[in-house]
Amino acid sequence: MAELEGLEFGKSDFVLLDEVTMEQFMDNLKLRFEKGRIYTYIGEVLVSVNPYRQMDIYGKENIDAYRGRELYENPPHLYAVSDAAYKAMKRRAKDTCIVISGESGAGKTEASKYIMQYIAAITNPSQRAEVESVKNVLLKSNCVLEAFGNAKTNRNDNSSRFGKYMDINFNFNGDPTGGHINNYLLEKSRVIHQQDGERNFHSFYQLLRGGSNEMLESLHLQNDPTVYVYTREGAATTTSNNDRTSHKAVMNALEVIGFSKEEIDSVFQILASILLLGNLQFESDGESVQIVGLDAVNHVSELTDTDPESVSKTLLHRTVATGGGEVIDKGHTAEEACCGRDAFAKALYERLFGWIVSRINSVIEVKDYNPVLHGKNTVIGVLDIYGFEIFDNNSFEQFCINYCNEKLQQLFIEIILRQEQGEYQREGITWQHIDYFNNQIIVDLVEQPHKGIISILDEACLTVGKVTDTVCLDSMAQAGPASSLHLPQVSPPHFQLSPTDKSMDFQKHFRIRHYAGDVTYSVEGFLDKNKDMLFQDFKRLMYNSANPVLKEMWPDGHLSITEVTKRPLTAATLFKNSIVALVDKLACKEPYYVRCIKPNEMKSPVLFDDARCQHQVAYLGLIENVMVRRAGFAYRQPYARFLQRYKMTCEYTWPHHLMASDREAVETIVTQHGFQDDVAYGHTKLFVRTPRSLYTLEQERAALI
Ligand code: ADP
Ligand code: MG
Repeated sequence: MAELEGLEFGKSDFVLLDEVTMEQFMDNLKLRFEKGRIYTYIGEVLVSVNPYRQMDIYGKENIDAYRGRELYENPPHLYAVSDAAYKAMKRRAKDTCIVISGESGAGKTEASKYIMQYIAAITNPSQRAEVESVKNVLLKSNCVLEAFGNAKTNRNDNSSRFGKYMDINFNFNGDPTGGHINNYLLEKSRVIHQQDGERNFHSFYQLLRGGSNEMLESLHLQNDPTVYVYTREGAATTTSNNDRTSHKAVMNALEVIGFSKEEIDSVFQILASILLLGNLQFESDGESVQIVGLDAVNHVSELTDTDPESVSKTLLHRTVATGGGEVIDKGHTAEEACCGRDAFAKALYERLFGWIVSRINSVIEVKDYNPVLHGKNTVIGVLDIYGFEIFDNNSFEQFCINYCNEKLQQLFIEIILRQEQGEYQREGITWQHIDYFNNQIIVDLVEQPHKGIISILDEACLTVGKVTDTVCLDSMAQAGPASSLHLPQVSPPHFQLSPTDKSMDFQKHFRIRHYAGDVTYSVEGFLDKNKDMLFQDFKRLMYNSANPVLKEMWPDGHLSITEVTKRPLTAATLFKNSIVALVDKLACKEPYYVRCIKPNEMKSPVLFDDARCQHQVAYLGLIENVMVRRAGFAYRQPYARFLQRYKMTCEYTWPHHLMASDREAVETIVTQHGFQDDVAYGHTKLFVRTPRSLYTLEQERAALI
C-alpha cells in the first residue's frame, strides 16, 4: 500500500476506495491518469494505463528505488511487481510468472520489455560474462521477434501478431542462466492479405526499405514495397516505426544472438521468395494452366536452392493417391494454383518464424545444469499474449484469440479466489465466499469434447465431401453448443446464430457472448483456416532443398503422399492444446498480474475515454477483484514486518518491545490505535479488514518521520 504520494494523485491502491463502486473506481483511475500516475494497485495486482508518451519513470534511479523493496514502500510501478516476482523466486525458490493482459494497444508488450529490462538490471552484480551474454540474447530476442511477429494494425502501430510466453531460468544466485520462448498462433493470414490501413509483418518492409542495394539485388528484389502484391496494400500506410533503422537493429540482433551468416542469408532468402511468389500469376487457356512470370520462378528456385522445374511443377500440380493405391499427378485450375501458392507463402513464413524462435531457444537453453552443483533452478515466466479482439469483421483468428483470453480469465478467477481462500485457511481465519462471474460456461461452449465449437469444426473438416462453412454453422446450431449445453434460459444466450446487426447475412454469422463482450464471427473461411491445408508437394519441395536451413524447417516433407496421415490435427485443436498446456504451466507458478488498459482509440496521451475505459475495467473483472480483496481482509502483513513499519507510532513498542512475541506487540499497537475490532490475528500475519484503519496508521507514521 503505497502512501508515499500525496492524495492529490488519488488512491494508489483501489482497495483504499471509500466505497467499491464503478464510479469511484473510474474517478480514481482517471484522476491518476491525468496526473501522470499510470500505475495503481489492487493489492498485488497492478493496473496500468497506457500513457502514450515517454514517461520518465524507467531510468536507473527508478530501478535503484525499487530494487529489493516491498510493494508498499514506493509508488505503484511495474518494477515493484517485477521485484516482488523476483524476490519470491529468489528467497523462497518459487517459480513465479507475470501475466500481462489487456486488449490490443493497451501496453502489454511494452510492459513485458520493461520487466525484462528491470530483471536484467538487477541481476548479475558481479558482471559474469556468461550471465551477461544470456541477458543480452534475451533482450535482443525481442527485437527479432517483433520484426517478424509484429505488424501495424488499426489499433496498434506495433501490434504483436503472435502470443509469447518466455521463461527465464535463474541459478541459486538469482542470476539468469537461460530461458525458453513459446510462441502461439502467428497470424499468418497477414502474409497474403491485410485489412485497410494495416501492414504486413514489419520484416518485409524493413528488408525492402532497409536492405542494401547489393543485398536486394542478390535477392532479386526492388527497394519498393508497392511492387509486391503482398506488401502493396500496406506500403502507403505510415507508421511510427522507421523500417530502415529497424533493419539494421535486426541484422545486429541476429548476429549477437548467434545466427550464422548462412542462417541470416537463408532468413532473407525466404522472405524474398515469399514476396516473389506473391507476384506470380496463373493463366488458363482452357486446357492447361501456366505460370506468368517464369523469371520469378527461377529466382524462387535459386533462393530456395531447389530446381526450377520442381518449383513450377509443384505450383501447378498436386500428387494424389487414388483408391487403388496408385499415385497420380493432378493439374490445378488457375484458382487452385493461386490458393496453393498463398498457402505455401503463409506456411513458409510461419515455419520461418517458428524456426527463428527455436534457434533463439537453442542459444538460451540452459545447458549442463547440475542441481547438486548449482542449486535449484528456478523460473520467472512472462506472458505477453494477444488480448481480447473485437473487429468489424471477426474471423477464425479472433475466435482463437478470444478463446485464449477466456482461458486466461478462468485462471485469473481461479487463482485470485484460490489464493485468497488458501491464505485464510492457512492462517486459521474464517472467510465469506464472494461471487464472481464465472466464464466456465463460455470455455465449455468452445472446447467441450463432442459438443463444443472446436469439436464440431473438426468434425466438419474431417467429413469427406462438400461441407461448407454454412453447413458447419448449422450443425453448431443444431447438434452443437447452443442446444447441448442445457443452458438455463439466460437472455440473450451465450451462443446465437442471429446477429444483432440486421444488415449481416444470417447464414454466415454466429455470436458468442464472451466475458469481455459480444462478438459476432463470420464463419466464412473457418473450415479452410481450421484445416490449414498445404499440399504435401510443397513440403516435399522444401524438404528436398539443398539449403540445410530450409530443409530443417520442413522435416515432414520426407513423407510421400501415401504415408501422410489422413487425420492431421486441425489448427483449432493444435491451438487449444497449446493453450491448455500454457495454462497448466502458469497454474503451477506463483502468479503476478499486470492488467493493462487502453485509455482511448486515438493513441492520445491526454484523452481518457470514460466509456472505453469503463468497459475494460468491467470485463477485466477489476471491481470484483477489489471486492474480493476487501471482502475479508483488505490487507495483511507478517507480524515482524508490520511491527517494523509501525512500532514508532506506539510508546510500548518504540524502539523495542519487551513482549513475549511480535504478535503481542502488534496487538498492543492495534489496540492503542483503537481498531482492534477491525482486525484478525492469523498464525503468522495480521489481517486488517478495512483499509481505513491502516490508512490512519500510515498517516500517523508519516507525521512522525
Ligand atoms: P499491446 O502489446 O498491448 O498491444 P503495446 O505494448 O505494443 O500494446 O503498446 C502500444 C503502444 O503504446 C506502444 O507502441 C507505445 O507507443 C505505447 N506505450 C505502451 N506502453 C507504454 C509505456 N509504458 N510508456 C510509453 N508508451 C507506451
Ligand atoms: Mg503486443
